[in-house]
Amino acid sequence: MTDKLNVLLIEDDDVDREAVHRLVGDKYQLLDAETGTQGLEVFRSQKPDCVLLDYRLPDMDGLDVLDQLAKVDAPVVMLTGIGTTAVAVEAMKRGAQDYLSKEAITEQSLSRAVANAVEKVSLQRKLLAKQEELQQFAHIASHDLQEPLRTITGFCELLQLDYQGKQLDDRANEFMGHIVAGAKRMQTLIIDLLNYSRVDSEDKPLEAVDCVPVVEQALNNLQGAIRECQATVTHDSLPTVMANRSQLVQLFQNLIGNAVKYRGDTPPEVHVMAESKPSETLFCVKDNGIGIDDKYSDRVFQIFRRLHSRDQYSGTGVGLAICKKIVELHDGRIWFESQLAQGSEFFFTIPTLYRAD
Ligand code: ADP
Repeated sequence: MTDKLNVLLIEDDDVDREAVHRLVGDKYQLLDAETGTQGLEVFRSQKPDCVLLDYRLPDMDGLDVLDQLAKVDAPVVMLTGIGTTAVAVEAMKRGAQDYLSKEAITEQSLSRAVANAVEKVSLQRKLLAKQEELQQFAHIASHDLQEPLRTITGFCELLQLDYQGKQLDDRANEFMGHIVAGAKRMQTLIIDLLNYSRVDSEDKPLEAVDCVPVVEQALNNLQGAIRECQATVTHDSLPTVMANRSQLVQLFQNLIGNAVKYRGDTPPEVHVMAESKPSETLFCVKDNGIGIDDKYSDRVFQIFRRLHSRDQYSGTGVGLAICKKIVELHDGRIWFESQLAQGSEFFFTIPTLYRAD
């Protein structure tokens, strides 16, 4: 056994392979593969700590090999040639941790790239494991808490029904009312926590989604609230993005729902727009409601954090936390700009994905 890192070099060119061997010396345990297929086989059987991957291979495109390796979160450093900046950029987008130009490669740059790639992937794995643990905790806790709560609410309601106006005096009735209301409130919180924990990346793979029917679906789900306050909701022409459809409906529904709920004295006017840029699509949901103070820019996206009491506006403070989770699962960002008493604009981005096909 050795403490040295196992590094797999997938490279078909003898001269280039020799050059890497010389630079590495005996720093790593180098495994060699000359084709993409062979490289993937060695990767599966030997599970190396890091992969150095040539961008051009005899049997497969280096980027296709990278796609396979990225699926299992392998730390990959792409080796590129002269004039292949576009390949390098593409490789980073598709999950390579770093790239090195073969012409400029040095012992130092090579070992730094390998060390960084290994470290980055190890951190990502730890973070993912923590997230999964938390997710599971929230799911189990909210699921199991529902059962005793149902018992409390059920029996309180029975007590209320059976004893109302009989043995219990007004004060006892009032207390009973508080217990039922509290238990119901807790039930809503638990259901929302469960909804929050259910939003996850395993849900469904990303697909090309036309945003017009998505927004229309969200409006349909909100039709009661929209009609009730005579809100006008409009949208520009909206693009197709790579996303999880049901999560995107939920995202628009929560943002438009809030735009209608946090209205001022005039009937709500809500507008949805999008701007397509090369690397991402920027969406905006704009309202003419009560606005939010800038100082709450982080707080509103935290779970169960609200700026208003329940008497003013109903809610549990989960809506925007779900929005943030959905946007971040798509590798996007979410934020707002607002003027108190004038209105708010909620922005989010969905990155453009380049697919292998
Ligand atoms: P909830 O609506 O259940 O309170 P959210 O997470 O959706 O939960 O929102 C958190 C807080 O952000 C709300 O309590 C509200 O104070 C504020 N907020 C969200 N959207 C808007 C909006 N469009 N205009 C004004 N305030 C908003």
